[in-house]
Amino acid sequence: MLIPESVKVGPYEYRVVIVDDLHSSTDRNVALFGEILYKPQEIRIRAGMGDGHRLSTLLHEVIHALDDEMYVIGLSEKQIKCLGVGLAAFLLDNGLLREEAE
Ligand SMILES: [Zn+2]
Repeated sequence: MLIPESVKVGPYEYRVVIVDDLHSSTDRNVALFGEILYKPQEIRIRAGMGDGHRLSTLLHEVIHALDDEMYVIGLSEKQIKCLGVGLAAFLLDNGLLREEAE
């Protein structure tokens, strides 16, 4: 499964970057699987994870964007984590993803 180079979330386009040894941009002591940076419109994903983990991480960061910048639902980190994992499993288990970019 390919991770796209960019994703559009509402009116905003985010560059998707795979990063070795990803750490929080605000605290270098915090290792992360993913991070969304709103100002440069960038989603960072840790390198070396399997397909399911990469997809759930991408969805996790997209859900943050939907909640923080568009719908202001007020989801908790735990709710976002569960939605990211659940949606990734749904998409993978039902063959709803393209294998390759067009
Ligand atoms: Zn999060």
